[in-house]
Amino acid sequence: MDKDVVIFGGGAAGLWLLDELTRCSIDAVLLEANALGTGQTVAAQGIIHGGLKYTLQGLLTKSAASIREMPIIWRDCLDGRSEPDLSGVRRRSDECFLWRTDSLSSRLGMLGAQFGLRVSPQSVTSDDRPELLRGCPGTVARLPEQVISTVSLIEMLATRHRERMLQIDPQQLEFECRAAGDVNSIRLHRDDGQSLELRPQYVVFTAGAGNSALRRSVQLNQEAMQRRPLHMVMLRGSLPDFQGHCVDGAKTRVTITSDVDSAGRTVWQVGGQIAEEGVAWDDFTQLANARKELMSVLPGIDLSSVEWSTYRVDRAEAIMPGGKRPETVQIRREGNCITAWPTKLALVPQLVAEIATELVEHVSNVLTSTSQVEALPHDWPRPSVALPPWETAERWRSDSEIAISSARVSQPTLVPKAA
Ligand SMILES: Cc1cc2nc3c(=O)[nH]c(=O)nc-3n(C[C@H](O)[C@H](O)[C@H](O)COP(=O)(O)OP(=O)(O)OC[C@H]3O[C@@H](n4cnc5c(N)ncnc54)[C@H](O)[C@@H]3O)c2cc1C
Repeated sequence: MDKDVVIFGGGAAGLWLLDELTRCSIDAVLLEANALGTGQTVAAQGIIHGGLKYTLQGLLTKSAASIREMPIIWRDCLDGRSEPDLSGVRRRSDECFLWRTDSLSSRLGMLGAQFGLRVSPQSVTSDDRPELLRGCPGTVARLPEQVISTVSLIEMLATRHRERMLQIDPQQLEFECRAAGDVNSIRLHRDDGQSLELRPQYVVFTAGAGNSALRRSVQLNQEAMQRRPLHMVMLRGSLPDFQGHCVDGAKTRVTITSDVDSAGRTVWQVGGQIAEEGVAWDDFTQLANARKELMSVLPGIDLSSVEWSTYRVDRAEAIMPGGKRPETVQIRREGNCITAWPTKLALVPQLVAEIATELVEHVSNVLTSTSQVEALPHDWPRPSVALPPWETAERWRSDSEIAISSARVSQPTLVPKAA
């Protein structure tokens, strides 16, 4: 079967690209090895960053410059004013709080505006603070960064394109290449004996951490990907709905986002520096440190009735000197293969716009009517949507279990590093 474009991987990047190419009358199919969004997208905190956290050192970094237009693009899509229409995606919040824990007069309010960011923080008076931040001695600000449910984003895009997606077994995949990175055909096989041959003009790898193995399958043997691991913390139970960053110094000490689990409990995901530095620790030590850290950044918080868990996940990105975070989207072009990492969820629209512009220019015979599309077999299984980490965590620990251990952590465990 001839196809204009075959996309591997249905996280935020692959699904948004499928949507965009379809709207551009390109005949694209998406192949998914697991459940859609497995890996990073369903594990993400869902914040549509506007660049502020990349200006905390007092400089307009390349990262901040590349991301600053994104909140406007997302807002238009989430409001249904531009394509893709994401008005059905569940928003967790239209803003985040930003706070410091020291009592120094803060530059928070000036950052952002100074660098021309489209979302910049507005100071919040003591009376207007959320209950949770009442006891914080430092400055509190509101930041109009939206927070979305990433599962809902995946569900929405997947529902729209069910007929253009196939579940695959990566062990039963055969690539036939004319040269390294120049794919002639892809053969898919299934245990029940079904098989399908796809002959693409272009192949796009948006498989996150799966990109590395896919590249080797098409003879692109030089490693192009790095992983930066995180050890994220989760709390569930009697907690307020809250989204915010504690930004002492140039570092984000913790980032908290909330959702509601299938049993109706509030769940907090806690990331930031704590998740980066906790990679070396076992889950129990990570929780003990996280408890101490949350008590320190949110004085007076009552955690006595919550349960705790952690999850580990790698950020998959293009390889950078010294393993640093790429400053913007990363796209590699070799033969008829494109390998892409958005670096951030917030940057997915930019990644997709760049790839789609290129493909629209280069794909020959762009369709003039949908009747020209050869339909994929209807009886071939379609991928489902991955569950968020709080629905799959195997072990939750009571607060009393963590509190005993946390009390033994006598020194502050997180010392903000110089950037
Ligand atoms: C804990 C965490 C929190 C984050 N929070 C934020 C945030 O708040 N804001 C933000 O902007 N960014 C955030 N990010 C970054 C963001 O999540 C990622 O940049 C983005 O989700 C990457 O999307 P993706 O589609 O490229 O990859 P992924 O989401 O990893 O999706 C890859 C897809 O490819 C599939 N796949 C894998 N191998 C194969 C194969 N061989 N064949 C076919 N399919 C395959 C996977 O099953 C999956 O569906 C966070 C990341 C992490 C890890």
